[in-house]
Amino acid sequence: MIKTLIRRILGGKVKEAPPVDLTKPVILGPQDHGIDPQLVSANAIRVTQTLQQAGFAAFIVGGAVRDLLLSVKPKDFDIATNATPEQVKRLFRRAFVIGKRFQIVHVMFGQDLLEVTTFRGSSSDGAPKDEHGRVLRDNVFGEQHEDAIRRDFTINAMYYDPASQTVLDYHGGIKDIRNKTLRIIGVPEARFREDPVRLLRVVRFAAKLGFSIDPATSAPIAVMAPLINNVPAARVFDEMIKLLMSGQALACLQQLRKEGLHHGLLPLLDVVLEQPLGEKFVRLALASTDLRVRQGKPVSPGFLFASLLWHQVLEKWAAYQAAGEPAIPALHLAADDVLNSQTEKLALQRKIASDMRDIWAMQPRFERRVGKSPYKLLEHPRLRAGYDFLLLRCESGEIDAEIGEWWTDFMEADGEGREVLLAKKPGGVGEAAAKKRPRRRSPRKPKAAGDSTPPNDVAD
Ligand code: ATP
Ligand code: MG
Repeated sequence: MIKTLIRRILGGKVKEAPPVDLTKPVILGPQDHGIDPQLVSANAIRVTQTLQQAGFAAFIVGGAVRDLLLSVKPKDFDIATNATPEQVKRLFRRAFVIGKRFQIVHVMFGQDLLEVTTFRGSSSDGAPKDEHGRVLRDNVFGEQHEDAIRRDFTINAMYYDPASQTVLDYHGGIKDIRNKTLRIIGVPEARFREDPVRLLRVVRFAAKLGFSIDPATSAPIAVMAPLINNVPAARVFDEMIKLLMSGQALACLQQLRKEGLHHGLLPLLDVVLEQPLGEKFVRLALASTDLRVRQGKPVSPGFLFASLLWHQVLEKWAAYQAAGEPAIPALHLAADDVLNSQTEKLALQRKIASDMRDIWAMQPRFERRVGKSPYKLLEHPRLRAGYDFLLLRCESGEIDAEIGEWWTDFMEADGEGREVLLAKKPGGVGEAAAKKRPRRRSPRKPKAAGDSTPPNDVAD
């Protein structure tokens, strides 16, 4: 049915691949591609060299080549080779064959992990597929040009040989990099059907790189969006994490909405973004995550998802209280509801879900500023995350900025200072004195903790 719809949209014509020889790459030397060898990881060179010395072909491939061509330091390096996984494994001291659907080798140097993949065969015709045409398994090895055609976008299908400093380009990737264009390799409809995760990838790369999507590539996206529902939740979740941690999460989500792809991913995102307060909160959370990613600081998925879904929790929390539940049990019930409704679609890992629950459950505790309560909260292992979350709530206007300021001061203060603060909390003995102090517009972060402590209480 989707096929018919797409045909109708494209005026009955589904474009065929251009009649050029896709088995011969365009080869570019250092003058043509301009890659700065300083940006290439020493371990990636070690892997390609070792493989080449053993008589195999070996190249840096995919996102790393794309980033190198854009003069961006790649965050990781993938290697493609004609050696089989077993042959690769034998050449390195710490190498592990992993994966079912695609077998790959993880080569480790200290903490550094490189993924080495054997060139894949081009045809997925005979591969097992689900009833919607999604390829379930295929592990056939092939030639480099076949490997290239299997990749998703032209800009992700180039190979770089650090030894000769040449780039091999089979699909016009260089041209697309220069024109800032995202173009899927092959017939868009077929490629999205084979693997609907590509629908999310196209959005992520467009937003992250600031590229435009070639019209033929973008045409079927909206109609094919429902296919994402057939992808195993864990894969969708991995892709969502990449998207949210791309440093351009806000832009990615806007693009997802624009392409009609947010339905079924974060089913509640729609609701969240339609509430004025919720939208501001989500925007602030994403903007702060984006900033941290761009500054190379770690971010925690638990914090991020806790933010995305907070206003849903608030709504349900209020409903349970209205139905007569006391505040704290009502919050736990609301958290359960939200987590349950998301777990199915997003395959939220247990650790992430428990971080989210901790962050949410801490919120009412920030309001209890009497006796030993604040001291107990200081010992909470997730205090930083809970506190950062509190600041976002203040900044979004959900709660009075005064609470955030009070906690900033309390966390900074010494023993005596803390007693003073406890005495002068609003409604307390020193309220009048506290009111004399000019109110800051937004709460500031404590100096003492500073940047050395990851504010988002990074998941370990
Ligand atoms: P990032 O910088 O976000 O890691 P990337 O391009 O390296 O981007 P990966 O998910 O690490 O993305 O994938 C590595 C490479 O594997 C891609 O560049 C692409 O060539 C290929 N690839 C990944 N996912 C797919 C897919 N779903 N379909 C086809 N090729 C894919
Ligand atoms: Mg990558």
